[in-house]
Amino acid sequence: KLSKRLQMIADRVPLGSKVADIGSDHALLPTYLAQQGIIVFAVAGEVNPGPFEAATRQVLESGLSKKISVRSGDGLAVIEPGEVNVITIAGMGGSLMASILEAGKQKLVGVTHLILQPNVGEDQVRKWLLAEGWNLDAEAILEEDGKIYEILTATAGRIVVGENSQQALYAERTLTGGIVVSKERLLQMGPYLLEEAPEVWFSKWDSELKKLAMIEGQLKLSTAEASAAKAEQIAQEIKEIKEVLACLQ
Ligand code: SAM
Repeated sequence: KLSKRLQMIADRVPLGSKVADIGSDHALLPTYLAQQGIIVFAVAGEVNPGPFEAATRQVLESGLSKKISVRSGDGLAVIEPGEVNVITIAGMGGSLMASILEAGKQKLVGVTHLILQPNVGEDQVRKWLLAEGWNLDAEAILEEDGKIYEILTATAGRIVVGENSQQALYAERTLTGGIVVSKERLLQMGPYLLEEAPEVWFSKWDSELKKLAMIEGQLKLSTAEASAAKAEQIAQEIKEIKEVLACLQ
């Protein structure tokens, strides 16, 4: 049985896909997808020897060697252009995720869906998707074992006009309380999550605010000029996030 987090990622993989799961660790996700008949083929990519061996063993023991190819390599280096139509990357930081996608851009030919679950730095992922013409189609948030995770689903860029365009998605919004949400806040907090404002999203931002306040406090202790400026910037960020949350609560 998959964890709730991996199950939610699996649920987003279209039927009949060819998937590359990058940073697959024990290859639990591709194994499940193959066993359920959701995918026709998968690549499980791993850069580290330990997880690579774990993935190899898992696939062999599950008798799925014909359907899942376990490959050793950095990011998208493990796939050929056109080999898969879905890429899943889960359980790593958003900036690493964005750099993997950026470095492997030429491998994204034929990829229609990206299903991404950054542990932190979701804004880095949204920024990359936006800059590269991917459409952020949906966001999900879940809590498991005291941790909160976001899952971002994007589809390959096509020209969309009107309400559905990414420009509209990230355009400054005015909430009912009159608070203006900037593009920066939307990239950080999630344009769909902000719209839906689920309970667990509030919990996430409560704890993010605590972390930001701690950083601000530490910066204020420093005598360096740059620290004072940074503290001021974080104070402003805290203020804006609080205003947004207050408007939506
Ligand atoms: N995707 C699984 C999940 O969500 O449960 C495993 C997550 S695990 C915390 C992150 C995995 O990413 C590790 O096994 C690590 O070796 C792998 N990894 C980190 N950087 C990578 C890279 N540049 N290319 C491929 N794999 C990478």
